[in-house]
Amino acid sequence: MKQTQNILADTFGRTHNYLRISLTERCNLRCSYCMPMDGVPLTPKPHLMTGEELFEIAKLFVDAGVNKIRLTGGEPLIRKDFPEILTHLSTLPVSLSITSNGVNIDRHIAILKSHHVSTINLSLDTLDAIKFKKITFRDYFEKVYANIFKLIDAGFKIKINVVLMKGINDNEINDFIEFTKNHPVNVRFIEFMPFDGNNWNREKTVSLKDILHRLDTAFAKAEILRLPDAPNDTAKNYKIAGYTGEFGIISTVTNPFCDSCNRIRLTANGQLKNCLFSTTESDLLTPFREGKDIKPIIQKAVLGKHAMRGGLSTPEQFNDPKEHSDNRSMIRIGG
Ligand code: SAM
Ligand code: SF4
Repeated sequence: MKQTQNILADTFGRTHNYLRISLTERCNLRCSYCMPMDGVPLTPKPHLMTGEELFEIAKLFVDAGVNKIRLTGGEPLIRKDFPEILTHLSTLPVSLSITSNGVNIDRHIAILKSHHVSTINLSLDTLDAIKFKKITFRDYFEKVYANIFKLIDAGFKIKINVVLMKGINDNEINDFIEFTKNHPVNVRFIEFMPFDGNNWNREKTVSLKDILHRLDTAFAKAEILRLPDAPNDTAKNYKIAGYTGEFGIISTVTNPFCDSCNRIRLTANGQLKNCLFSTTESDLLTPFREGKDIKPIIQKAVLGKHAMRGGLSTPEQFNDPKEHSDNRSMIRIGG
């Protein structure tokens, strides 16, 4: 029998079964850590994947072994054909999930439910409406906050993504943990990461160590329960004894988890990124449109994946903002 090759296996023994697809480079928020102040050069529409192309390319990945797809962006829900895209992808044998800023997610509850999207990652960096406006440059705090409860009531599992930035929202770590006391959510504190145009510097990152230190000062050791790690989970998960919800820490900057990485990313304009931090991309859309077999291109891209953070393996390299200027801005990658 002919041996089929695993085109999603890399040279470090990692297999990539998790595809993140960015649906759009646009967004209805302007989060300072994601969207550069001057905006981003937007890809002209003819060079973006149509819904049909996205589905056909996703299908190739699924045939190759992908069993989990996350829709992201930009804000995935501002794409007008989101319902059709979701409907098509839901015919594939994958677990489907979405990352959204939550501004308009209430309008999509029914379709998300009917297509078995059970877990939603929702971004909310502050519990303070004024600070929300300062971070996102938009006044939608009340909407997003209310939508969290609508999603909980509708039975979704909710993860709340909080990008921690020193001097901006790191004073809210305990408030977010208190939020887990009575609400069945998983708050994920994410270390602020460097991307093109986001004015990152290492000093602004609140590290895993900082967060654990603050925990120790707020709670007794016996109350802080470390939860078991799920396979390939990027977060170290915790819970305060007796609280309903949980929280996790995603420490890409200070404690990366590249060894167990199973993720690859497809941008809205059909480029495959083998790592969030890679400065190279592989164009799948052009050859796909030309009717070529893109599987060898996918395989080459996966084989080219570095062991760690797109090749920025030393802290010195990673901490140098110049090293990130050849990468895209996060809004154009899809987190
Ligand atoms: N618009 C959606 C949202 O905000 O959830 C999806 C796209 S957004 C790029 C995906 C995730 O990336 C969000 O949770 C956001 O907080 C995170 N993110 C964006 N820029 C980041 C950065 N510089 N460091 C860490 N996380 C970042
Ligand atoms: Fe938009 Fe999400 Fe980026 Fe904020 S983090 S600007 S909501 S894409």
